Amino acid sequence: MQKFMTALLILFTNAGVLMASEVNVYSYRQPDLIKPLTDKFTQQTGIKVNVAYLKKGMIERMKAEGKRSPADVVLTVDISRLAGIVSENLTQPVQSSSLSENVPELYRDPDNHWFGLTTRARIVYASKDRVSDGEIETYEELADPKWSGRICTRSGTNAYNVALTSAVIHHLGEASAQKWLEGLKSNLARKPQGNDRAQVKAIWAGECDISVGNTYYMGKMLSDDEQKEWANSVRIIFPKFKNGGTHVNISGVAMAKYSPNPDNALRFMEFLTSPEAQEIYAEVNYEYPIAPGTEAAKLVKTWGSFKADKVNLMDLAKLRSSALKLTEIVNFDG
Ligand code: FE
Repeated sequence: MQKFMTALLILFTNAGVLMASEVNVYSYRQPDLIKPLTDKFTQQTGIKVNVAYLKKGMIERMKAEGKRSPADVVLTVDISRLAGIVSENLTQPVQSSSLSENVPELYRDPDNHWFGLTTRARIVYASKDRVSDGEIETYEELADPKWSGRICTRSGTNAYNVALTSAVIHHLGEASAQKWLEGLKSNLARKPQGNDRAQVKAIWAGECDISVGNTYYMGKMLSDDEQKEWANSVRIIFPKFKNGGTHVNISGVAMAKYSPNPDNALRFMEFLTSPEAQEIYAEVNYEYPIAPGTEAAKLVKTWGSFKADKVNLMDLAKLRSSALKLTEIVNFDG
């Protein structure tokens, strides 16, 4: 009898859990960025958010789980990652007027599989002491011999650089993009190594005068006791393409193909794209919110303003393999 009662109790408890509204998130983004948002969402809706924080292997995990996958929503950065999850057939299209109102067309999938939440620009960090105003204004100039021995960057195969190279191909065509990569390589002060912040450290240490990096790292360095000095040795320059704007990438969200809680998933996606949530999300990671009428945080605004390139990020995702091929042909990291 007692066994029976226990079984009954477990059944009820499980039923209770099932009935409690929840949404399951697979996230490549870190807890400190996501927590403020999930807390707020739960507060507003009563829907519990369970987050699996992953460092890698999201695609493999979702493939292995198949139709039994608990994932409702995936959160990640970089257009190639978003496009990669879509092309593996692990997402589903979402129709929602608030999503299309809050996310500008450039930053969402034409087929409605993924939606951008914030942008980050890939910019030039320039030594305050050794680079004068106007010395660099375009991405094209990174290949100009006047920068010989003065540039530091991370690996050419890093997703951020692959997206930038894709943008170069988009603007200049493949042949000129190859020349650009060769020119950039020959301007490097050292072999590509380290992350974006390591390049700013190298500028601080006098190894190079400019580097290529994402905007939000300025904020991250400024909030770190050791890295503050590196950050204070540089300023941000927003380069543009001669016939375009500043290259940006996104963080974004998509609904999992086999989402067990699609209604909650949609509510969560709509919440994330709301101007209010975008501003919170952008502020914690020093990024830019994208909904019409939203503003970047105070600190981020001090870095200056820019016009984002007007290319749909899906067009860049399609150039990813060409970009990787060129990177290999010019032996960028070698
Ligand atoms: Fe990053």
